[in-house]
Amino acid sequence: MQYPTVDYKKVPLFAKVSQSDWNDWRWQLSHVIKDIPTLERVISLDASEKNDLKRCLAKFRMAITPYYAALMDARDRQCPVRLQAVPSIEELRNDPDDLDDPLHEDVDSPVPGLTHRYPDRVLLLVTNICSMNCRHCTRRRMVGFEDTPLSKACLDKAVKYISGNKAVRDVLISGGDPLTLSDDHLESILQRLRAIKHVEIIRIGTRVPVVMPMRVTEKLAAMLRKYHPLYINTHFNHSKEMTAEARLACARLADAGIPLGNQSVLLRGVNDSQSTMKKLVHNLLMARVKPYYIYQCDLSKGISHFRTSVSKGIEIVESLRGHTTGMAVPTYVVDAPGGGGKIPVMPSYMISQSDKKIVLRNYEGGITSYSLPQVVSRPSNSDTEYASHEGIAALLNGDKRTLEPADLKRRKRGH
Ligand SMILES: *Cc1c(COP(=O)(O)O)cnc(C)c1O
Ligand code: SF4
Repeated sequence: MQYPTVDYKKVPLFAKVSQSDWNDWRWQLSHVIKDIPTLERVISLDASEKNDLKRCLAKFRMAITPYYAALMDARDRQCPVRLQAVPSIEELRNDPDDLDDPLHEDVDSPVPGLTHRYPDRVLLLVTNICSMNCRHCTRRRMVGFEDTPLSKACLDKAVKYISGNKAVRDVLISGGDPLTLSDDHLESILQRLRAIKHVEIIRIGTRVPVVMPMRVTEKLAAMLRKYHPLYINTHFNHSKEMTAEARLACARLADAGIPLGNQSVLLRGVNDSQSTMKKLVHNLLMARVKPYYIYQCDLSKGISHFRTSVSKGIEIVESLRGHTTGMAVPTYVVDAPGGGGKIPVMPSYMISQSDKKIVLRNYEGGITSYSLPQVVSRPSNSDTEYASHEGIAALLNGDKRTLEPADLKRRKRGH
């Protein structure tokens, strides 16, 4: 398998850039492409495209790292990299179902910058700065409007909230992109989280390995490895993004003992096909990245043109499970509007059931039956401290008999 290095010298705009500047992430950040005249020196734009872009830029920002720009096809408007980077006139279309904050990240926020949705883990948005503005971004409402890291006062509050909540055992650092912070700044955040005894694991969500891989220096990897157990999830959407540079970034992190996962977004025209996804997940495994999630594109404003039907995601999982390495198969999820969390959706493998048998089908279409145990044996000893007491799990373990909506009319009729 060949992983090409990005040949940036072929792009007129970058022809004179030295190798050392190119490989310096600070240079990349300070040369992000934000306007049409600069973009025109990377890709060809006709008059109508330029006009559309102008209208888009009046409403939404554009920001493309030189590295990611050099990866775009200069002529092909359907290039999967270009579609994720260059604004489309369709972003101006208002779909009546679009929402500002579809995942209620702001609503479920006990202190600014922190979202506490699940019982044992929190999402900590440490900055709203990104190295670029992805066109399909969920957090468009905040990314790239005010470029600020989370203030010291807000971070203090968030750390205090986490230390005061013994149930929080997993902190997910996201943004914006946490890897746009300096090593020192990021390290100070990691130190403060590590000082909290009940925080078992720390996760970082970042797109830097995809859009600015030179940020992942040996020095960064050496700093990160001091804070294990630390996990990193990145965001590759297409195998074209898996360059030699990106692979090196992943290798540095993996060599630092950091387990890597990938969260793709299912995007119309970019990766909504079986073969595109299969190639991507194979490339990820070769870079030591475990495909973790495929997200259904959410209901954020201005991204309706990227949405596929949910059946497309199911079809993709169908084409992977059984057909390739089980490790390569991500969980396809719909992040429920209103803050309901990630809901897995998949093909149905159970065809029928009785009290004695379940009938299953496999990926080949073969049908099999599995005999259920008829002797009820004592379950294994349980570690009660780890039991789940919320939601459907509470019904299963007998904590509750029913779950019902809080506003049921029949409950208000007074009996
Ligand atoms: C995605 C997400 C998490 C983490 O979910 P996992 O399924 O544990 O990876 C936590 N909090 C919020 C608000 C999230 O959106
Ligand atoms: S890097 Fe992530 S948060 Fe930043 S613009 Fe892209 S998708 Fe959005």
